[in-house]
Amino acid sequence: MAGKGSSKADIKPGRNREKIPMCRSIARRFDPHRWSIKGRFLYLTGALLVLGNLFLIGYLYVIFGGVLERSAQAQLNLVRTTVSIEVQGLEGMVRSQAAALAEMPGVKASLAAGASDGMSDFLLSYGNNVRKALGLMSLDFELSGSDAKETEAATWMENVGGKPVLFARWPVQRGDTRVGCVVTRCDLWEGLSKIDLPQGLGIALASGRTEGSLQILTERGALAKGLDFEAAATGLAEGHGDAFGIAMPLDNDIWAILSFDASGLSESRWNKINLFIWFFLGGALLIMTVLYLNVIRIESFFSRMKKIIISSHSNYFAERFESDSVHCLDVLHCHNEECPVYQNPSLTCYLETGSEAISPKWRDTCLFLNKYETCHNCPVYALRKGDELTEMRNVMNTMMRLWSEFLERVGHLLAYVLRSQGQSGLMPSLDEISDRLEQMAKLTFFGRDVQGAFDKTEVYAQLGHVFTEGFGLPKHMVFEVDEDADRLVLALDGIEDEGLCKHQVLLSCESCRACRVAEDVVSFYNPKLCPHFNCDMSEAVRVCMPVVMSGKVGAVASFMTTRREWEPLRAQMPILRKYLDEAGPVLSSLKLLKLSKEQALRDPLTHCHNRRFLDEFITKYEPLIDREGKTTGLLMCDMDYFKQVNDEHGHEAGDAVLQQVVGIIQANIRRSDLLIRYGGEEFLALLQNVETGSAEAVAEKIRKAVEDTAFELPSGSRLHKTISVGVSEFPDDGDGMYKAIKFADVALYSAKDGGRNKVIRFKPEMWTDESY
Ligand code: GH3
Ligand code: MG
Ligand code: MG
Repeated sequence: MAGKGSSKADIKPGRNREKIPMCRSIARRFDPHRWSIKGRFLYLTGALLVLGNLFLIGYLYVIFGGVLERSAQAQLNLVRTTVSIEVQGLEGMVRSQAAALAEMPGVKASLAAGASDGMSDFLLSYGNNVRKALGLMSLDFELSGSDAKETEAATWMENVGGKPVLFARWPVQRGDTRVGCVVTRCDLWEGLSKIDLPQGLGIALASGRTEGSLQILTERGALAKGLDFEAAATGLAEGHGDAFGIAMPLDNDIWAILSFDASGLSESRWNKINLFIWFFLGGALLIMTVLYLNVIRIESFFSRMKKIIISSHSNYFAERFESDSVHCLDVLHCHNEECPVYQNPSLTCYLETGSEAISPKWRDTCLFLNKYETCHNCPVYALRKGDELTEMRNVMNTMMRLWSEFLERVGHLLAYVLRSQGQSGLMPSLDEISDRLEQMAKLTFFGRDVQGAFDKTEVYAQLGHVFTEGFGLPKHMVFEVDEDADRLVLALDGIEDEGLCKHQVLLSCESCRACRVAEDVVSFYNPKLCPHFNCDMSEAVRVCMPVVMSGKVGAVASFMTTRREWEPLRAQMPILRKYLDEAGPVLSSLKLLKLSKEQALRDPLTHCHNRRFLDEFITKYEPLIDREGKTTGLLMCDMDYFKQVNDEHGHEAGDAVLQQVVGIIQANIRRSDLLIRYGGEEFLALLQNVETGSAEAVAEKIRKAVEDTAFELPSGSRLHKTISVGVSEFPDDGDGMYKAIKFADVALYSAKDGGRNKVIRFKPEMWTDESY
């Protein structure tokens, strides 16, 4: 569709679809203003989900780190208590053994005599017994004389050749004299070996703190690697992995180092956290999918709403939806002259709605629709697309506005009814008001329905339905005013067998009272109100209501009811009046539309149909005539030497003759036949349903009548003219209407050649060409 005269054939549908440039589509992806509602949803919730998950993981990590530390501290405290109880027990036991030995008379005597060596056998057997009894194999005894340096009671620990040893000393008294002391000792490690260590816990004994650093003497369980002993001496210290440790002093030089490896605990907790995160992610994705599907549904709901609003009101789109317009003329550089937007650039193409919402009336006009296959591919739509939230808001606004307009109308109508009810002095009940409201809603729908009517018959049919179903009035009629003929025409007949009015009423508008006075005519109080009532007026009530069209009575709606039914019906009259008021303007505009259509299809001089009409007629009726098998006679009539009339008497005289010729032709053909002004003074008569071969006789009648007529000229003088007629019949002469017309024309030429003032029937030999 590049320039004037280009056609749809120029465009190969779907082949050369113009793609949106790559950089623009990438820019769109990063510009939040251009994101579609689905994009916004996915990007934002996706980002929220990722952030939420990161936050959750971080939070769990911090919380879990603290929990792990506390749990390690608790475990180590427990072991510290156990160790300290064990050590105290061991000290007590070693001390009591020393005390027990010190109290033995033999020991006292031996030390007093200064012969402790003599006790070695005794000590050996005694020691064996005690070691066995206590299960402490490293327990050993020693006696020291009074010359020993220290004889006071004491317990202490020492690193003896790399072994932590627990010592206890007890003084030996004989009378008031201290004769020596007993020293017992045992391997501290053996004493602590009874402690049951849970998994992950380790214990070690170390010495050397006084020298500045601890040296591990012996260890059991998993001792934490990389543990800072100095730090452990003051509190909880971390080792490699998830290991923690503390160092507890047992004596100046001897320390117990306790450690806890929490990696097992940490692993199982992380497994649980992982599981939790996956569940969280799965759940969030599920919720997101459900929401996403709902977003799609909401979106499609709005686009459907938009389509409904557009198709029910073919108004200017940009105005209706308060949206900024993007002009397809600018974007597409379109030169399609048929397009309404091209003709009136202030309009906006409905294509911008990006769906089938384009006004159905103009759908076929847009050549680009063919090219891009769907509106979504059109670059105009691509420019608009994105701000769907605003579009939704606009659709919502439009819906609300239409709804409030609807309510406002109902409100006005209700106020009108209540006012008219008030005038009658009766206040309506709530039930009545709700009935009225329902009627108002029906009335509003009626108004909308008739607005979409194709022709007057449709409106009358809908009115008939309202009379019968809405008001229970099956006996109704509608007369239409034929202004040209000044008569009434029956437009809707709800009775069929018996007329409501006497036939005289149809002959003149004046004879109808409602038409004359332009007011409702009700016969309840005066049965003789109109002389043309055609029913038993003792029982019946007749009501005639004028329908105003363009300021004049354009139709009269009339119905009959019984006197008994009239009373409840009377209250409904304002509503019925409103129905007629709704129908009036629609009927009036349809009437005007029909008139302008007819005028466009008629020649203004002779009022014959024109060739445009012939084209429409042939397209519609050719297949029908073909199917029914009936013959159509075609008379091509052309005045002989008509030019002379103009030349000798003037153009006006020529026009007058033409009008009279049309009168003559019409008088000789049937009303159902068609007369078309085919050229200047050339007329085509289309004789419908003729007997085969009879068209020639009609043509002859016309020729004769023209020949016999003395045409009256505007100057008052008279003139004789003749006419030549070519005759053909469809489908007998040609299998197409245009072909048959051409053959009638060929016959006309033959008549002219044969001397004029002749009727010639087409014969196949007259046509030698291959195509017509
Ligand atoms: P022929 O017998 O060959 O038909 O001779 P003709 O003079 O009638 O020739 P033709 O049909 O070609 O002449 C048409 C003339 O009709 C030309 C024009 O002056 C006249 N004419 C066509 N339309 C009108 C019209 O609307 N009004 C008037 N007054 N004259 C018309
Ligand atoms: Mg002529
Ligand atoms: Mg001619």
